[in-house]
Amino acid sequence: MKAHDGMYIDGAWRPAAGRDTIEVVNPADEQVIAHVPAGTAEDVDAAVRAARAALPGWAATAPAERAARIAALRDVLAARKDEIAGTVTAELGAPLSFSQSVHVGLPVRVAGSYAELAASYAFEERIGNSTVYAEPVGVVGAITPWNYPLHQIVAKVAPALAAGCTIVLKPAEDTPLTAQLFAEAVHEAGVPAGVFNLVTGLGPVAGQALAGHDGVDLVSFTGSTAVGKRIGATAGAAVKRVALELGGKSANVILPGADLARAVAVGVASVMGNSGQTCSALTRMLVHTSQYDEAVALAAEAAGKYGDRIGPLVNAGQQARVRGYIEKGVEEGARLVAGGPDAPREKGCYVSPTVFADVTPEMTIAQEEIFGPVLSILRYEDEDDALRIANGTVYGLAGAVWAADDATAAAFARRMDTGQVDINGGRFNPLAPFGGYKQSGVGRELGPHGLAEYLQTKSLQF
Ligand code: NAD
Repeated sequence: MKAHDGMYIDGAWRPAAGRDTIEVVNPADEQVIAHVPAGTAEDVDAAVRAARAALPGWAATAPAERAARIAALRDVLAARKDEIAGTVTAELGAPLSFSQSVHVGLPVRVAGSYAELAASYAFEERIGNSTVYAEPVGVVGAITPWNYPLHQIVAKVAPALAAGCTIVLKPAEDTPLTAQLFAEAVHEAGVPAGVFNLVTGLGPVAGQALAGHDGVDLVSFTGSTAVGKRIGATAGAAVKRVALELGGKSANVILPGADLARAVAVGVASVMGNSGQTCSALTRMLVHTSQYDEAVALAAEAAGKYGDRIGPLVNAGQQARVRGYIEKGVEEGARLVAGGPDAPREKGCYVSPTVFADVTPEMTIAQEEIFGPVLSILRYEDEDDALRIANGTVYGLAGAVWAADDATAAAFARRMDTGQVDINGGRFNPLAPFGGYKQSGVGRELGPHGLAEYLQTKSLQF
């Protein structure tokens, strides 16, 4: 596959400071498809300097012009959708149709939403005898994961551009080719030199250098809770703004009276889509004891139908990790009703769509984020019991509630310690704030709340 052998810094592809490279591997057949440079602290420093130099000009650019550049970026991404989808499929392993509809379709929508918000947002308001200005935070260090490689980038870069911030992006090492295509799109969209910069590299090297760099004003990180804690500590020590989008263990709560078949189908699809590598996946299904056996049978049947339609996991390490969790589930006494730990194919990082019944709340598979196609079905006795189980993890990213009517489901959702809840199959809204309660994170992405993350206020009293 096509790959740049340099970093995109100050509007051009420049040679990396060091010679080390990272192999990009297609997880479907485990073949090396490209190499990209492994950035060092020196590359990060060059990129941060470029971003800082570009900051005054971009911050002073009229919001309408910033909006026009984001709209142009959206158009380039849309025009190059086939190439981007093919690249996501090659380095992440997602089926091509899913890459086209979700991995490219969603970020195009999100970029479009920020083109509109940049043009319409009230960057100035009157409060009593004050005028309050919303000003850009400054230079943003963005660190992204591989699971939605383009979406995670756009969810940070588009609002940062809208706010008037400049950016250095360190994408995940498994999916750097999508990030390189994004940098090409930024260039084509006419975003001025230095406003967006890309440094590929390893997390503990390039990522850590970026998170700790004095010239970065805000670190926006999406990834695991373990790394997020370290980044939060580094940013805190330097009194830097930080936004953390971390892991999840979300509950799909099916109350008596709900459309059971639909609730189970949507829940299974949320766990199997993207091979289970979705932070907001509904990985715990909570079913009333009276409907438990029926739900288990429906879920096992739905998972069985996935068969060959599911892609591989991103790499062999994730595959081994997920299979380890499945073994742990069996060891702790959960009952396998679909899938299992055996690799379904000889080649590639595949894991069978797996469903566990008789899962109890304290089991490892009910507490820890697995990040693979593994569903746990838990039983509850009454609503208070369901709420205790739903809220009984360290996470609080997403959730779903199903009931006979929206009001009953919404009343339950209001008691959940989580950042967003789908009511009776409510659709994903790219303008709704996305982010976590508890250890699922700090801050919000998407829509106007996501834009506010990149702004700070200044009040002038008259
Ligand atoms: P990860 O934390 O290992 O890596 C994420 C990013 O951080 C990568 O770019 C990596 O290179 C970088 N990184 C790693 N170590 C670093 C360090 N010491 N300093 C600075 N940067 C470092 O996570 P992952 O395995 O890539 O992604 C999976 C995790 O991401 C899951 O836990 C998932 O739930 C979470 N996630 C959360 C959201 C959300 O919005 N809440 C979205 C997607 C993924």
